[in-house]
Amino acid sequence: MTRQEVYLDYNATTPLAPEVLDAMMPYLRERYGNPSSIHSLGRPSREAVDASRGEVAAFLNASPREIVFTAGGTEADNLAILGFLAGLEAGGDERRHLVTSPTEHHAVLYPMQRLAKTGYDVSYVDVDEAGRVSPESLEKVLRHDTALVSVMYANNETGVIAPIPELARLAHDAGARFHTDAVQACGKIPVDVEKLGVDLLSLSGHKFYGPKGTGALYVRRGVPFKSIFRGGGQERSRRPGTENVPGIVGLARATRLASSTLERESRRLRDLRDGLEASILRGIDGSHVNGLGSERTPNTVSFRFDGVDGERLMKTLDRDGFAVSTGAACSSGSVEPSHVLLALGLGPEQVQGSIRVSLGRYTEQPHVGALKDAILRAVSSVRAGVGSAMGAGAS
Ligand code: PLP
Repeated sequence: MTRQEVYLDYNATTPLAPEVLDAMMPYLRERYGNPSSIHSLGRPSREAVDASRGEVAAFLNASPREIVFTAGGTEADNLAILGFLAGLEAGGDERRHLVTSPTEHHAVLYPMQRLAKTGYDVSYVDVDEAGRVSPESLEKVLRHDTALVSVMYANNETGVIAPIPELARLAHDAGARFHTDAVQACGKIPVDVEKLGVDLLSLSGHKFYGPKGTGALYVRRGVPFKSIFRGGGQERSRRPGTENVPGIVGLARATRLASSTLERESRRLRDLRDGLEASILRGIDGSHVNGLGSERTPNTVSFRFDGVDGERLMKTLDRDGFAVSTGAACSSGSVEPSHVLLALGLGPEQVQGSIRVSLGRYTEQPHVGALKDAILRAVSSVRAGVGSAMGAGAS
């Protein structure tokens, strides 16, 4: 087997789907006009952006005016929180209490931490041992001055899904607005802003076979919002800057692809994932699944092995041709134990003993079977101390 023959890190990123690349090509080549130009080269670009907005809106069951294109999930998350608060402040609203969960992506956590230093009061809801935010735990921290609640739909490391409709309802009952980071949900489970009842929602193209550096923010009609960027009037001044036309076209094509394959793919991936999980849990003493027992995205499993260093295990698997990840892929290279797994109540050693496997479009049964065998081998060699030598040489 050659290096990286089997890619099982789809939560980190996905390959661009050929259909998506085909849709983008004309806008990378001959249709390069600026959508703001009113001459004949600008018009096709404007039409493409408008049509794409309609497609992304349909994907979320939103209306086109509620979609703001961004340069990815991180920007959408930042813009959701900061743009909403800017809008609130512009309207003279003085509420300064924010709520989030400790298992959020840093794209939500870091803006929240910054806001806590600049006059906002930030509360963190408790999560259970699966990392789930319960309606009861949210109820405990909501206040009359809560302005915004931000809880992710699906967690990037464990795949654990939050009960967003119930959480959003509670936030609304308290007079607050609700944002969800749906970056790891889109393309894996249905995402319908009406059923979810959210006010703001972030997504990222490269997590579901679209181009990197593309994303969108849904802003429900009537929700206070003011851009944090200053510039041209693009995106109705909510996100100024010349539109990434090929990226937007690719993002829209990816949403269409996701809609047409979601049901079939989620069944297929769930079967593969469940089979892998069962054989690892059966075959390896001291193996666990983080977040087991709660509703999870069908493609994700976070394994934990007693007495095994996850990074060594990951490197051993990498040498054998399998790409999986330890902790959060977005902060890979960092030796800090994952804040998500720590929030589940795991000790640093247990967190270090975890690896994430995330399946996707090109994952087939033989890949999963081969990964299972490789994990069985790698765990015993790492436990026997052989893996440490191999791991050290593999970086
Ligand atoms: N939110 C979640 C849950 C993610 O998993 C990620 C990326 O891993 C992001 C936000 C950031 O998205 P992007 O890479 O498009 O900036």
